[in-house]
Amino acid sequence: MDLTVTAEAEARGKAARAFAAERLNDGLEERDRRGRHDDAEWRDRWRAAAEAGLLRLGLPEADGGDGSDLLAAAHVLHELGAACRDNGFLLALNAQLWTIIRPLAEFGSPAQKREILPRILSGEWIGADAVTELASGSDAMALATRAVRHGDGYVIDGEKAFIGMAPACDIALVFARTSEGGGPWGVSVFLVDVTLAGVHRDREIDKAGLRTIPTGFIAFEGVRVPGTARLGPEGAGSAIFARSSEWERQMIFAAHVGAMRRQLAACIAHARARVVFGKPIAQQQSVSNRLAEMRVRYETCLMMQRRAAWQMQTGTGDGADAAITKLYLSEAILASSLDAVRIMGGAGCLWDADAARDLRDAVGGVIYGGTSDIQRNIIAAHQDRGGFGA
Ligand SMILES: Cc1cc2nc3c(=O)[nH]c(=O)nc-3n(C[C@H](O)[C@H](O)[C@H](O)COP(=O)(O)OP(=O)(O)OC[C@H]3O[C@@H](n4cnc5c(N)ncnc54)[C@H](O)[C@@H]3O)c2cc1C
Repeated sequence: MDLTVTAEAEARGKAARAFAAERLNDGLEERDRRGRHDDAEWRDRWRAAAEAGLLRLGLPEADGGDGSDLLAAAHVLHELGAACRDNGFLLALNAQLWTIIRPLAEFGSPAQKREILPRILSGEWIGADAVTELASGSDAMALATRAVRHGDGYVIDGEKAFIGMAPACDIALVFARTSEGGGPWGVSVFLVDVTLAGVHRDREIDKAGLRTIPTGFIAFEGVRVPGTARLGPEGAGSAIFARSSEWERQMIFAAHVGAMRRQLAACIAHARARVVFGKPIAQQQSVSNRLAEMRVRYETCLMMQRRAAWQMQTGTGDGADAAITKLYLSEAILASSLDAVRIMGGAGCLWDADAARDLRDAVGGVIYGGTSDIQRNIIAAHQDRGGFGA
């Protein structure tokens, strides 16, 4: 495994840091308090990110990407995260890269890749990954949403919940049941233009954390889509979900690992400056031990995420690796965020404090993309099948 970061990736990482510092942090406290998105403001920031090349990261040139490898992409995202305090924006960007752009590049028809992908890569359109329903939750493919054949196309009925970017999106990847008897193989995916009649997405969700990524419901009421809106073959929904989940679980925290670095640096600075009992709290062993634990978590997450990028680049991961990456990174980010609040003391408990926001934001990480319990189930099932031996 070669985890070397090239000079070119280093330079791009520096540019990503500068972009984050200049464009992503201003007004964060206000956006976080508001918790409802402002479309014009959102699109402005999104287009700037697209212009900075962030939506083309790690994608082959043939698909309109920058042709860099995934280790380079992971490094650039890490640097972006190290300078960006807006975790909701980082999630939005990463979700777009791994759960919208990748499935489109891997499963899209030539026409879909010609007509939709370039618009997403340029930042003109935003996609939403619409899997979850209120009743299905962790049993992700137990869908009530139906797509029934009608002439050359389909009619979609159902409602999706907790969908990141739903209130701000132009197109949604909608997972719907197309066959009653097929179990998980009866699910298909559709690229649905959200301006079509019967699409409703007026319910934005007021989350406790990650408040700067617009999130909400999307309802489909007799929505007619052409057959050409289907992504991949009929019945391929489960396979597309599995592949998209692999991308998501291996890569979605690339920027958040960078945010761990920012968080640790702020905690070290605070612990050295804050004097109680006549000396800096960094000299109290309980505090210095906590800082050391945060460092170990950060370094471990960095190595794991780079290994994940390497595995995706080389196709070498096994059936448990994505779950291991997702479980460890999300729990480590949550644990370090709680440690950061402890180190900051009362100041870290204020609503607008970075430490408090990071903690609120970290909670969602152990839920989206499959909860930690679900990742443990996947790892245990892989071992039960003999996937890990002496
Ligand atoms: C911030 C955020 C962003 C999201 N973005 C998206 C998005 O863009 N698109 C999308 O489709 N969805 C999205 N989701 C939804 C997310 O994928 C689901 O919330 C998640 O899969 C869990 O489903 P649930 O909330 O219904 O919990 P439930 O399935 O009800 O789970 C509740 C609890 O039961 C446990 N549990 C359930 N089944 C098992 C089991 N078999 N074994 C052990 N424990 C179990 C869970 O681990 C959890 O602790 C998002 C969620 C959040 C919080």
